[in-house]
Amino acid sequence: MGAIIDGKLWAAKTKENIRTQVEELKKRGLVPKLTVIQVGENPASTVYVNGKEKDCAECGFESEVLRLDAAVSEAELLAEIEKRNTDKAVNGLIVQLPLPKHIDENKVINAISPAKDVDGFTPVNVGHMTIGEECFLPCTPAGCIKLIETTGINIAGKQAVVIGRSNIVGKPAALLLLQKNATVTICHSKTQNLKEICMDADILVVAIGRANFITSDMIKPGAVVIDVGMNRNDQGKLCGDVDFAACKEVAGYITPVPGGVGLMTRAMLMENTLKALKIQHQL
Ligand code: NAP
Repeated sequence: MGAIIDGKLWAAKTKENIRTQVEELKKRGLVPKLTVIQVGENPASTVYVNGKEKDCAECGFESEVLRLDAAVSEAELLAEIEKRNTDKAVNGLIVQLPLPKHIDENKVINAISPAKDVDGFTPVNVGHMTIGEECFLPCTPAGCIKLIETTGINIAGKQAVVIGRSNIVGKPAALLLLQKNATVTICHSKTQNLKEICMDADILVVAIGRANFITSDMIKPGAVVIDVGMNRNDQGKLCGDVDFAACKEVAGYITPVPGGVGLMTRAMLMENTLKALKIQHQL
């Protein structure tokens, strides 16, 4: 049976480390501040935004949640972003996605100052990441790498397979694995022989969005399996893209859902916000 990668434990350790650093910064009069803009009242978004507020409190950060009506105009939203871009007290700025249909998501992401883009979604940060320069890494893929590294396994030279090619998870996860010198294969809905490709993976990162899609016969014995998926099963229970109960018998290491990537993603947002403050204050 494989070892479970405890996202709760590693996220707590990460936040504890951040909190210690924040206590030192406070002695110099500096407190990291994250602003989150939520448009409308999508229940899932509300849960995520509340979680971010809680994380900020745990890390000793200040937080501001700006809740805008679902009918807010794109221009009004852009004006609120610009206010935070120029407010020196705000270190990190994120806009909770998805946005209502009348608002152009790309335009909104583009409006966020790259220096405050702690989600790592702006084209400037994506570009820096792609060529391996210092930047804000997107939180979920960065969290996946951290969780793989907790196993002590050296990523270099391993066969890594990423299933999913979204801009926020699959593509950046593949790039980060490549930068760690893995040999990377990216799979998607048009991939043929998915099972055979998966069976070759020393490291398997799954970001599809389909409950229990990856079965134990797709896993190479001893592999590191990172499950990014967040789905509801037939009973309405939160579950991943990987059939955890069966796959943990084959994998060497595996993340659970809940208690895996999601918590580490949240901790990475806190790391990025602290990093933003340090860069803005040239520390
Ligand atoms: P997405 O934008 O919908 O992308 C899903 C990807 O899966 C696409 O690239 C799609 O391929 C691929 N795919 C769909 N069906 C497939 C199949 N049968 N075989 C192989 N590939 C298939 O989703 P996302 O935003 O990347 O999110 C993926 C999952 O992660 C969701 O469950 C989401 O809720 C979760 N998530 C979790 C966190 C976290 O913090 N834990 C953060 C973000 C997302 P095509 O490109 O060909 O369509």
